[in-house]
Amino acid sequence: MEFRGLKAQYQKYRSEIDESIHNVLQKGHFIGGSEVQELEEQLSKYQGVKHCITCANGTEAMSLVLMAWGIKEGDAVFVPDFTFFSTAEVVALIGATPIFVDVDQGTFNMDPVKLEKSITKVIQEGKLTPKVIIPVDLFGLPANYIEIKKIAKHHNLLILEDSAQGFGGKIGDKNAGSFGDAGTVSFFPAKPLGAYGDGGAIFTSDDRLAETITSLKMHGKGKNKYDNIRIGFNSRLDTIQAAVLLVKYRAFVEHELEDINKVAKMYDDELASIVKVPKIPQGYYSSFAQYTIKLKHTTDRDGLHNHLLNMGIPSFVYYHKPMHKQTAFSYLKYNDDNFTITNELCNTVLSLPIHPYLTEKEISTVVDNVKSYFNN
Ligand SMILES: *Cc1c(COP(=O)(O)O)cnc(C)c1O
Repeated sequence: MEFRGLKAQYQKYRSEIDESIHNVLQKGHFIGGSEVQELEEQLSKYQGVKHCITCANGTEAMSLVLMAWGIKEGDAVFVPDFTFFSTAEVVALIGATPIFVDVDQGTFNMDPVKLEKSITKVIQEGKLTPKVIIPVDLFGLPANYIEIKKIAKHHNLLILEDSAQGFGGKIGDKNAGSFGDAGTVSFFPAKPLGAYGDGGAIFTSDDRLAETITSLKMHGKGKNKYDNIRIGFNSRLDTIQAAVLLVKYRAFVEHELEDINKVAKMYDDELASIVKVPKIPQGYYSSFAQYTIKLKHTTDRDGLHNHLLNMGIPSFVYYHKPMHKQTAFSYLKYNDDNFTITNELCNTVLSLPIHPYLTEKEISTVVDNVKSYFNN
């Protein structure tokens, strides 16, 4: 059984994907081919934003935005404690200070009440200047932008939406990746919209920001690549990856997003009475980058994880370690007591196989084995 269904997806779309890659090989335009522009046009339209700027990966997408905003040493950037390392890494990499914020027990996303407290504390201490909030759309579910936007406005902060896992998620009819002043996605193969290698993109409706990022991702170009007006990156999406993504994007909107939600619904129906299933608040829609259940105790989580492994069912722990406990951030000297929810989640969550191609039989196998673990 596959955890993310990349092989099943390729089997279904083999001829289209092969043909799309083959076209690029024949045209020989491997960097900046027309497929890249076509993808940017389609994705910006889907997201309802003015600009989609593709780049090398989801991590650099965030770095590009922070750099374009001029974030630097002495600035405070608020990130959830429960996320992939990238979210906080990009902040530290440009010399600013990541301020970790505990998450909501139900949604696993940044807790707006704790965010407000963290901002107030940084202001009172007077050492750092609050500049940016980076909410993460964890496991496919958009963060609470209704509250986070109010807080950002009140404190005059920018929002960078880390939607690496969020593509396809929604609040009402507004898409994940379109909530922040800028939003970023990752095309890492296992993400909701994945390439066959690395890739990423930035979404924004801010013309000036888009212009700066477009320059930064191309060695700080001015009039052209050989006129360099700032220090930048070399960060681009290869034409072959864009060609793959064009096919996969069509599948994503045609049926994959709906199908993965059907799988989640089947899990919910069968599992809600025995474990804590993902909480999707009213009006929210998840793209289920992960289907993450929460157990009562670490022993249950580890026991179930091993039981599934023995039965040939893949499952993973996202994530084992909160940001504030990462060795790379030990210099920040965080107080463990401020992160009770993240600490608990790291000890009790488990992500089950989920993808649009999971069969009813496979779903039953997972469900039966979760049940059999608790019956013994
Ligand atoms: C995957 C991921 C990233 C980084 O994306 P890459 O394309 O691997 O660089 C950033 N943030 C989150 C939350 C992610 O899951």
